[in-house]
This record gives sequence, structure tokens and C-alpha cells, in this order.
Amino acid sequence: MSLKSFIEVSPDSHFPIQNLPFGIFQPKGGKPRAGVAIGDLIADLSVLEDLGHFRSPEFRGRKVFSEDSLNSFLALGRPAWRKVRAVLERLLSSKTPILRDNARLRARVFHSQEKVTMKLPVRIGNYTDFYSSYHHAHNVGTMLRGPDNALMPNWKWLPVAYHGRASSIIPSGADVRRPSGQTKPADAPRPSFGPSKSLDYELEMAFLIGPGNSLGDPVPIGRATDHIFGLLLMNDWSARDIQAWEYQPLGPFLAKNFATSISPWVVSLEALEPFREPLPRQDPAPLPYLRGKDDFTFDIQLEAQLQTSSMKTPHVITRTNFQNLYWSISQQLAHHTVNGCNLQPGDLLASGTISGPTEESRGCMLELTWRGANPLKLPNGEIRKWLDDGDRLTITGWCQGDGYRVGFGEVSGRILPAE
Ligand code: MN
Repeated sequence: MSLKSFIEVSPDSHFPIQNLPFGIFQPKGGKPRAGVAIGDLIADLSVLEDLGHFRSPEFRGRKVFSEDSLNSFLALGRPAWRKVRAVLERLLSSKTPILRDNARLRARVFHSQEKVTMKLPVRIGNYTDFYSSYHHAHNVGTMLRGPDNALMPNWKWLPVAYHGRASSIIPSGADVRRPSGQTKPADAPRPSFGPSKSLDYELEMAFLIGPGNSLGDPVPIGRATDHIFGLLLMNDWSARDIQAWEYQPLGPFLAKNFATSISPWVVSLEALEPFREPLPRQDPAPLPYLRGKDDFTFDIQLEAQLQTSSMKTPHVITRTNFQNLYWSISQQLAHHTVNGCNLQPGDLLASGTISGPTEESRGCMLELTWRGANPLKLPNGEIRKWLDDGDRLTITGWCQGDGYRVGFGEVSGRILPAE
């Protein structure tokens, strides 16, 4: 770890100079603008831009960091993203005096994370949710169809997905109202209407689209990373009883689109590079358009924590890893565009629930409690089959480096009672 900042960052912080994740923040009395997290602080990119630090040709003289979303910056593409990162590494380095030795300038540039409001990082036009964890698909399939027919015949041939709803994607910290809807227990003669009785979380990660492609112009797998800016954490809140009654034959609808929470900081592929791992061999070998040279995944440790209203501290209920995904992000993007579908800057493509092979690595209550059959026993004696009103669910994730972490912060939300 040779790179060091003049800003003090503790070894367990998610935001050392090796990370530099991008987000949109709003200081008290100010407008939303772009920033990068460093330790407990945020560097205000709109101020650095005004001072002329981002003048590479890709910007064509435009100012992108005073906008209230990262969309314009994402549209610029990887050469511009790399240049901005290089400028920030230099400005924040312990060896560079510009900010380090100028208290007045530092006061303009840095904000305390505690004192600002984090907004959604992008304006999301379209949101897609994949179903890419083998163990999640296998567990859910086993519950529905038994272990012999757990995976549908298409699952190992293409990254299965559905189109989600972008308008109900909310920032971390926003409360989630328990949805009401139509449900029908198997033994009931007809459906009834009321608050969901089986509210769940789904531990997921998602990536954001950069420049994107024109309609009719697929992105070959070898060019996929040109269009992937970075990753964030996501909780795909799910109402299992509503889902069970509505999902056939067209897939999830009202069981999912009442709320989807995302973390405020977007970690770039550049920051994740040291944690890259080869994608495990796939059997059967995928069709050629899904076969990437040196396809990869990342070693990202992931946790879900539950805190009920009577618990003093959160309790970890899921421990999993991004490497538990069968399909890579490049495969997801290549598949999404192979028919000519156009992706646009700020589109969100999510992984699906990330479950691993062990019981503790299951990424949702549906699997952890096996549809309520084995309730979770919490340290204070409380029992949960599903999420209760007042429960707070927090997902966090990080890559462990040698003496530092490249982390994603967290995505958190609390359940409010139905209206
Ligand atoms: Mn999902």
C-alpha cells in the first residue's frame, strides 16, 4: 500500500485513498453535487472542477460535477473516469501540497460525511434484476419444484433476469412501508387483500452503465467493461406472499416494485481491480457470445445485519461473497444487449440475491428460514420468519486489502407498518 493520503483514514474505514467512490451529496443549505468519499470526509468535486482540475479533452469544457446526478460523468466513459481518478489520487496524496498545506482551500473542498445528506448517485432510467447466484436459484427452485428439478433448463445457458421498476429505487436510510396486496394461501379457496405477511430482503450488488449502446447495436462481451462504471450495494425488498400468487407466468411485479434500496457510494472498477478473480469455469461452456477472454469476478465480502426495534446492536444473519455469482457482470451486459437492446448512462443492472453454499451464506429470509419452516433465533431471544415492523436491515460489503479496505459503505432501511 504505497499510496497514502494526508487525510487520516483508519485501517477499517471503507474509504481509503485506494477507493475514492463517487456519490451525490447535499450539504446543509446547498445544492446536491458530486463528491468522493475519503475517510470520514467527502471531497467536493464541483469545487475542484471550478478550480480547473478536470480539464481533459473528454470533458469538452463541460462541468459535470455540479449536477445533481452522476449521469453526465458516467456518459463520458472510461478514459475520462481514469483521468479523474488520477487527478484525485494526486490531489489527495500525502505528497501533494495543494490541499494539504492550504487550510482555506481544504475548508471549501471537504465536508464531514456526518453533516450532509446522501442522495441517489444517478438518475436511473432503467433497472434490470438478474438471477445469477447458483445457490439462490437452486434453493428457491428446490422449495418450489424439489431438488431434482431445482434449476430451470435455461438457467446455465443464459443469465435469467426481469425488468424492474426504476421509479421506486430509494436511497439508503429511507424507510420502507410494508406493502399491501393480493395473496392466496395454498389452502384458501380465493385470494384476499391486506398487508404482506412475508416481507423479505434480498442481498444484492448492482452495477451502473456508463456510455451505453445505441438501439440495435449489441455490446460484445470483450467491450462490456467499457460500459460498466462501478458497483454498489442493493436490497431488493420482496413481499413473498404477493410474489407467490402473482409471479406466474410473467415474473415479479408488485412483490418487488414497492421499494428497492441502493447504497450512496459507487465503487469504480479501477478501485476493485486489485480484488479481481478469474470467473470459475462454467459447465456447460456458454454460447460464444457469452464467452469472454479472461472473464472475471471480484472478491467482495458481503454481510446482512438485522436489528429489531428491541435490539441494541445489529446481528449478522448473512455472510456471503460476490464470487458466489455464476454469471459475470460482462456476461450479464453482453446478454442484455445481444438482441440490440440499448443501455443508457445510469441504468442499473443488479445481480440477484447472492447466496453461497453454506446456510449462513443465504442472502434472504426465504432461504435462511426455508420459507418460514426454520425461523431465525436472534441473540435476544426474538424469533423471525420474515421481517417485522420496526426491523432494520443493513447490507454492507468490502474488499480486504493488505492493511486497508475498499468498501461499499452500507445500504440500510427500516420497515414501517402498512398504511
Ligand atoms: Mn432480486
